Amino acid sequence: MNDFIALVTGANKGIGKEIARQLADAGCTVHVGSRDPERGRRAAAEIGGRARPLVLDVTDPASIAAAAQQVERLDILVNNAGILVDDRPPTEADVDSFRRTYETNLFGVIAVTNAFLPALRASRRPRVVNISSGTGSLAWSTRGEHRGFTGTSAAYRSSKTALNAVSVYYAQALAEDGVKVNALAPGLRHTDLNPRAAASDGDPAEAAAGAVRLALLPDDGPTGGFFSWDGTEVPW
Ligand code: NDP
Repeated sequence: MNDFIALVTGANKGIGKEIARQLADAGCTVHVGSRDPERGRRAAAEIGGRARPLVLDVTDPASIAAAAQQVERLDILVNNAGILVDDRPPTEADVDSFRRTYETNLFGVIAVTNAFLPALRASRRPRVVNISSGTGSLAWSTRGEHRGFTGTSAAYRSSKTALNAVSVYYAQALAEDGVKVNALAPGLRHTDLNPRAAASDGDPAEAAAGAVRLALLPDDGPTGGFFSWDGTEVPW
């Protein structure tokens, strides 16, 4: 058991819901972020424990401000909400699909993190986990080592590459405040975002365990890193 207070964005389903469930199982109070109030209520009720719904659309400044007002202290922020608009290479994608993807996967993370900074600074042990993707690794991309169908989407992949970059900048900017910021590659998982992944590619719960590990990092744990769900480092 612990007395940590956590927020997981996009926690009404998929990997985010599993992260919220595992944090609740560990004894955390968990704000289950969902842009749809009813689905958020249902997810929080299913998770049980100290899970409670929090209406939060990461692309809506009014929604973010209203959510932030309800949370005085935050020990764990998991920026999980993400979208995959299409799987087109850059030569076939239009700027709008990049814009829409970045709006959620990048600008959403920045807006949410900044809005919750006062609550994070009120924590004695603040942790931020940004749910990235192995497809955002430039090292893997240049070697053609990324796996999965999301690997063809230039908008999605570059949004995660940029997310990795800002994760490093946040880690540096918040080091003096003791906020540890790390990015996670959750691995290929069969979810609504990635329906073509096979169930055999791995349970979302396995990915969630990787996020929870970063969320509960001890004080001598890393910051500014990019880790796979199994704890190994991912090359940038
Ligand atoms: P899902 O589609 O199952 O879940 C995505 C979640 O994000 C949903 O709860 C969705 O809400 C929410 N969301 C989307 N847009 C917004 C928004 N504007 N405001 C608030 N919430 C929003 O996908 P996954 O569980 O697979 O994805 C979770 C994270 O993991 C994402 O960041 C994804 O990029 C990453 N990831 C997933 C991989 C995979 O193979 N599945 C691989 C690598 C990374 P709603 O139900 O309302 O749409």
